[in-house]
Parts: sequence; C-alpha cells; structure tokens
Amino acid sequence: MNLFELTAHEAHEKLVKKEVSSVELTKALFDRIDKVEKDVRAYVTLDRENALAQAKKVDDLLAAGKAVPALAGVPGAIKDNISTLGLRTTCSSKILENFIPIYDAHVIANLRKDETIFLGKTNLDEFAMGSTTETSYFGASHNPWKLDCVPGGSSGGSAAAIAAGEAVWTLGSDTGGSIRQPASFCGCVGLKPTYGRVSRYGCVAFASSLDQIGPITRDVTDAALVLNTICGKDVHDATSLDVEVPDFTKALVADVKGMKIGLPKEYFSEGVDPKVKDCVMAAAKKFEEMGATIVDISLPHTEYAVTTYYIIAPAEASANLARFDGVRYGHRNMEAASAPEMTAISRTEGFGAEVRRRIMLGTYVLSSGYYDAYYNKAMQVRTLIRRDFEDAFKKVDVILTPTCPVTTFSYSDKMDPLSIYMLDVSTIPVNMAGLPGISVPCGFVDGKPVGLQLIGKVLDENSILRAAFTYEQATDFHKQFAPLGGNK
Ligand code: GLN
Repeated sequence: MNLFELTAHEAHEKLVKKEVSSVELTKALFDRIDKVEKDVRAYVTLDRENALAQAKKVDDLLAAGKAVPALAGVPGAIKDNISTLGLRTTCSSKILENFIPIYDAHVIANLRKDETIFLGKTNLDEFAMGSTTETSYFGASHNPWKLDCVPGGSSGGSAAAIAAGEAVWTLGSDTGGSIRQPASFCGCVGLKPTYGRVSRYGCVAFASSLDQIGPITRDVTDAALVLNTICGKDVHDATSLDVEVPDFTKALVADVKGMKIGLPKEYFSEGVDPKVKDCVMAAAKKFEEMGATIVDISLPHTEYAVTTYYIIAPAEASANLARFDGVRYGHRNMEAASAPEMTAISRTEGFGAEVRRRIMLGTYVLSSGYYDAYYNKAMQVRTLIRRDFEDAFKKVDVILTPTCPVTTFSYSDKMDPLSIYMLDVSTIPVNMAGLPGISVPCGFVDGKPVGLQLIGKVLDENSILRAAFTYEQATDFHKQFAPLGGNK
C-alpha cells in the first residue's frame, strides 16, 4: 500500500511501531502532491518547511519514547478560511490574497497542541459561498475521480486532497453543506458537528448562526479522531457549548441492532437522481439487515429550507463581510479620491461575482421595509424546520438521506446559480436546525461517488458515528481509491 493512501489511524499505528517516520510520511505526501496537484489543484498554499520541521519534532518525541496523541506526526490540510498564525489565509478571495493571520483559530491551536502536521491550506469557493469551488479566485479544484468534474464545495479542496492522496485528514467548514456535499462528490467521509460543538473562533465568518468546522477524512474512525481534537468550549466564541466532550472513538461500535433509522419522504422525491436514490435505498436495506428498524417519516417544511437559507445566510454574510473595507484587511485601491470611494472600489475589485451577489441579497433583505417581509419571515420558517426535526426524533434515533440529489458534474455543464443552490436541499436543513450530520460513501454511479447522509439529534454525534461506522464495516466503498497519478 502507498503511504499516501493511509488513514490517520493506520498512520498513527505505523508511527508508534516505528514502521515509518513522520518525516518519511510527510515527504511521501509532498511527493504525491508534486505528482498530482497540477491536475487536482486542491491547495492554495503549501507549507513544506514548517511541515517537515514539525515532522522531525514528532520523530524526536517518538525516538525519546514519548507517548503521542492520535494525530501527532500525521499530515493534514486546512480549508483556507480557517486562520493559521503566520500562514497565508485567503478564503480563496482576491481581497485576502496576501493576508497573513496573527493568530490561530481555536481548532488550529488544539491541533498544534496534539503535534499534528499542516501540509498547507486548501481551496474553497470564495468565502465558502458555492458548491463547486468554481467561485475561487485561484481557480477551481478538480475531482480526483473525474478530473473534468467538480469536487463539490465549498470545501472542495479539502475533499479533493483526501480523494487524491494529498493529505491524510483535512478540515472543512459547513454552513449549508460545504463539508458533506464535497465529501459525497469525492467519496470521502465528511462530518458537520452540532452547532456550538466546535469553536468558530478563527473561522472567517460567512453566516455565523450556521457555520461549523468539521473533518473530511478517508473513514469514520478518522472523523472521530479529528473531532476529538477540535471540539470543546472556547471563551473566544460565545456560541461554543460548555458541554462534556466525549471520546468519540468510543462510539465506533459495529452494531445498529435496535436503532431506529428514519427515511424522510421529502428527501427522496423528484429531483433526486434515481441512481443516487437506488444507492441510498440499498444502504437502508443494509441497515435493516444489520438489525436496525427503518421508519418512514416526514419533515414537511423541507421544501422551504433552501429559500429560507438564501435569506438568512446572505443577511449574515452582508454584515460579516462589511469588515473588508480596504482599511483594516486586505486589498485596497490606491487611486480613489476619497475614503468612501476607496472602500467601494476596493470591495468591487476584491470580491468575486458570487460574493457580491450574496452581499447585495443580504443587504436587501435586511433593509428597512423588507426586514419583516424577508428576514423575520425566514427566521420563523427556520423555527418550523427545527420543529420538524424535533418531532421526527421522537420516533427515530437517526435520519438517513442522500447527501446530495446528484453526483459530481462536469465544469462544462455551467449551471445557473439557482440550480446550484438547489443542490443543497438535503444538507441545508441540518444547519438550520443546528444538528450534526455525516456523509459516508455508499456507492458509485458511472464511476462517480455517491454519499449518504446520517443526521443526529443535537449533540448526538455518537449515534451517527456508530451508524456510519457499522455501515462502513459492512461495505468497502471507502476503501476504493481514485484512479489518479498511476496508482491504479
Ligand atoms: N453551497 C452553500 C452556499 O453556497 C453552502 C456553503 C457552505 O456550506 N459554506 O452557500
């Protein structure tokens, strides 16, 4: 097996058994990057020197007989909207093209404490707004399974890096599906934690009431390991929850006997590719064979979720992105005759079309006269969506859906913004309700990966991890590797 195909838990085992050193492993990852990155373009920035220095440090610890945490010396990559001290953080935007943060995000500080290794920063849709990485200022990433297809988004670089063997684990962020959808398009595992489980401190804000950081990995065990490291109360984020952080690996028990799994009819209706539906229904059957009970349920307000999201998320984005004014951060136009003109021109030059569209939408729905008609109404519908889930969870333990109604598609398909927005129909409601959700590989359609989504109750990551792990043990979709760079 190639070193770049290892999972994080396999890599850890090899490191502690001294079958491989962290420097060897890190070099193997950079060799792989050198080979395939020109085709995949998963990264915005690589950090070879620091990565190798950190690998040497971990090797020294191991040589000295020290016990090391699970991710120590295991190379990963970080979505480029998460702040890394001293390492460029661009949000894939021109406006932050040269921005070097002076602090670490909470998740990054936690990962550093655990002596992990950062290979670099991965590509995303500009400010995490999009579903394909095509809105990145640096150009799109490519799906390792089909290079002429999108990797999904907005954490498309993180998912592509995993599928291409360019990182062992990665972080993404998920506001309406941006961890789970690219994970499903690239055949990876992607976990969005409960809102508040992980501190958002240092995750450049898109829509603060929806954003959450989480792992994209090769398997469920790795997702639990990364979650263990990044979770926890943080004084810098008032929305981070002061709750006990369990050891999520304890949930990795291959047993779903007696588990009630809900299938919401609204998520299997028209618009879902019949072949995707077949894969997810086959998975439901597998769960049943393994002892779970499948229950038909309804989440009646699902049809309003996307519309509601495209009021709330842009509203929050328009406020959050006001800080990019050419004064405090990033790109500044030097020719403007006045300060207001400088801000206006800097923002026009610095933001791409999709970000400008969202800012305008958000400013509109918050403007006086429209606030009640749009924003307040959307907040009311959000409550109804949350209640749908509360009612459903009186009957079931977890909910099973397709992660996305379709598989990856070609760049040349050139979808209009509205059709792209509709791709998030199954993932958005989960953010609206603040619930945990995981996407796990469940098959292929014409060589393109399909993902299933498991949704849990608030703070019940354990149940979705257990169900996902049980399914993974009974299937081998996650073990398949993209046919890329001559590895197959
Ligand atoms: N695709 C959605 C959007 O464009 C979700 C993005 C995200 O989760 N960051 O807003």
